[in-house]
Amino acid sequence: MIDKWIQLPVQAVVTVCVLLLSLQGFLFVLSFSKRVTMPHAYPFLTPEQKKELSDIAQKIVAPGKGILAADESTGSVAKRFQSINTENTEENRRLYRQLLFTADDSIKPCIGGVILFHETLYQKSDDGKLFSQLIKDRGMVVGIKVDKGVVPLAGTNGETTTQGLDGLYERCAQYKKDGADFAKWRCVLKITPTTPSQLAIFENANVLARYASICQMHGIVPIVEPEILPDGDHDLKRCQYVTENVLAAVYKALSDHHVYLEGTLLKPNMVTAGHSCSHKYSPQEIAMATVTALRRAVPPAVPGVTFLSGGQSEAEATVNLNAINQCPLQKPWALTFSYGRALQASALKAWGGKKENGKACQEEFVKRAINNSAACIGKYVSSGDAGAAVGESLFVANHAY
Ligand code: 13P
Repeated sequence: MIDKWIQLPVQAVVTVCVLLLSLQGFLFVLSFSKRVTMPHAYPFLTPEQKKELSDIAQKIVAPGKGILAADESTGSVAKRFQSINTENTEENRRLYRQLLFTADDSIKPCIGGVILFHETLYQKSDDGKLFSQLIKDRGMVVGIKVDKGVVPLAGTNGETTTQGLDGLYERCAQYKKDGADFAKWRCVLKITPTTPSQLAIFENANVLARYASICQMHGIVPIVEPEILPDGDHDLKRCQYVTENVLAAVYKALSDHHVYLEGTLLKPNMVTAGHSCSHKYSPQEIAMATVTALRRAVPPAVPGVTFLSGGQSEAEATVNLNAINQCPLQKPWALTFSYGRALQASALKAWGGKKENGKACQEEFVKRAINNSAACIGKYVSSGDAGAAVGESLFVANHAY
């Protein structure tokens, strides 16, 4: 009898506990499934915003078009101008860039977009027109570099992340008003026996994704640039492996941040061996390694891949881009150029900081634009490509932009 009096409350307590545990389990499953479905519950872009972004991206990489990267920071221009004995003043920077932006109409079918540095967005041509307006009037899209350069990543073997997220939301709102429709943010990774580390890969992927989502909220197409430097003696295979790893992390982060891929562009390095590798690979080998890496890591929703030239000579950058477009693998994205050095080296040399060389400077730039335009549709035929710096290596150790 007494046993029964004890048994009853024990049974009741056990039943209540079992019920509570199942309820908790049910709630856990519910919250998990909610978490999984969350991205669809909170769309951050309207269909109109998505259309605007994808239209901008498509316009930049329309067949035969690529990007002129003219967004060198004032410090980088100093180094370029030093090589031609020209003083790095605001007026000289304006004069040089004016030459590029006013080159003759044969650049129009070749250049879809121009990336500017902050200062240049607010500079004017001799006749008082804002550069941003001049570029737009010529049918090209205006872009702006929004990162604030690389800084050390503590506890790594000399690795970096890129700063500039503070105030980026407000800066993008202003840049959009001032005529910029796309942006660039450069992250840097290094190949050594101990790098890139997982930390550098994740951190740089995440900061690129944060930047991209901020841009898209303002109708600005983000160019996502995870540059793997060519410094080192590694072979082609190692660069391919690292490129695949880095790009896979970048697209995971972009997905986690709900970035609308159709309204983005990727700016990667081509897959090449390290600058001091003793073996020289053919353009076809470089093309196969590059397209293979991209196919493994870049979703087909991305409209365009706009390679940086990364220290290749002007001639190499054109020939390799052409081989990439001739590569027999399926390529669901436009594969084009977003070159700085490889579009400007001969032009800069021809100018030499002298007014009377303006025409020669523009002719060199036009030549590079036409050749790369042909290369980005796989139709470049070398005809003894000549120019002041065509074959010259443009490699700069540990390059900063
Ligand atoms: P290079 O083509 O000179 O490598 O530079 C392109 C660029 O914009 C790097 O951020």
